[in-house]
Amino acid sequence: MVNIKWEELGFNYIKTPFRYISHWKDGQWEEGTLTEDNTITISEGSTSLHYGQECFEGLKAYRRKDGKINLFRPDENSKRLNKSAERLQMPEIPEEMFIDAVKQVVRANQEYVPPYGTGATLYLRPYLIGVGDNIGVTPAPEYLFSVFCMPVGPYFKGGMTPSNFVVSEYDRAAPFGTGAAKAGGNYAASLLPGQIAHERNFSDCIYLDPATHTKIEEVGSANFFGITHDNQFITPKSPSILPSITKYSLLYLAKERFGMEAIEGDVYLKELDKFAEAGACGTAAVITPIAGMQIGEDFHVFYSETETGPVTKKLYDELVGIQFGDVKGPEGWVFEV
Ligand SMILES: *Cc1c(COP(=O)(O)O)cnc(C)c1O
Repeated sequence: MVNIKWEELGFNYIKTPFRYISHWKDGQWEEGTLTEDNTITISEGSTSLHYGQECFEGLKAYRRKDGKINLFRPDENSKRLNKSAERLQMPEIPEEMFIDAVKQVVRANQEYVPPYGTGATLYLRPYLIGVGDNIGVTPAPEYLFSVFCMPVGPYFKGGMTPSNFVVSEYDRAAPFGTGAAKAGGNYAASLLPGQIAHERNFSDCIYLDPATHTKIEEVGSANFFGITHDNQFITPKSPSILPSITKYSLLYLAKERFGMEAIEGDVYLKELDKFAEAGACGTAAVITPIAGMQIGEDFHVFYSETETGPVTKKLYDELVGIQFGDVKGPEGWVFEV
């Protein structure tokens, strides 16, 4: 057994033994392989280095009570990676190949899938990059697709304890830019606003809609949701938000399992009083309750600065219960490795 203090894990890089890698050339993917080498050697002319022709995914493997391992909706990650790839002029990865790569990596590193009950999970990072000799602003002649993994704990310190966020003066994406793609460039653009937020002791920043700066778009690494006083689940709708699989799962659960009205719509900054609770959701963040939000000089508190609201807690328990196999999920959500 590997020597890791599972309960103390944060969200940090840990080198695990195996990763999957496949190379695309002349219109096709080669047979992918597992390798122990965590470095890659690419041409200095690679488009991923100069023009940000790269996209990625993030998903988790969950250890069940019976010792088996679950993946949560990996087919959705495959679809989204292909949408990102299309936006960035990169080749499609067949869904079968994507899911097979993820499963191979989980199996090869299964000692690193944290035990059930520790709260930790195995985070998987698939990525697709343009490589090969090139210098003009054109799609790359070749591509690499790889999946690596590491055990992780909570993304935001404290996990289910409420965190404070700050509304950023910067935009993470343009109205019809690449905000909906999990494209590296969006995250390079978010480093400075993220750093400013951290220096002010906030967990992260919240971006507004880039066209009018009047509506909430999302957190730097997670989507936003709010629960209104009359029990509606509301999450922003915009073409520049990263379409979170966790968010769509919560929209479904709120409606189908808890009979709530679940809405994708506008979340105006000036209407925040209608929310009894708010949270950030994503694979890494899971559900992180938003305690307060700094908006210019004002500090808006949602449910409480120290306690998690009851609806947020209920949604969290249902989602996490499904992921770890304790609660039966909707048809097709859980894949056994
Ligand atoms: C990955 C990501 C999310 C969360 O998406 P999930 O599919 O739920 O993991 C939200 N916002 C941004 C900016 C992201 O990169």
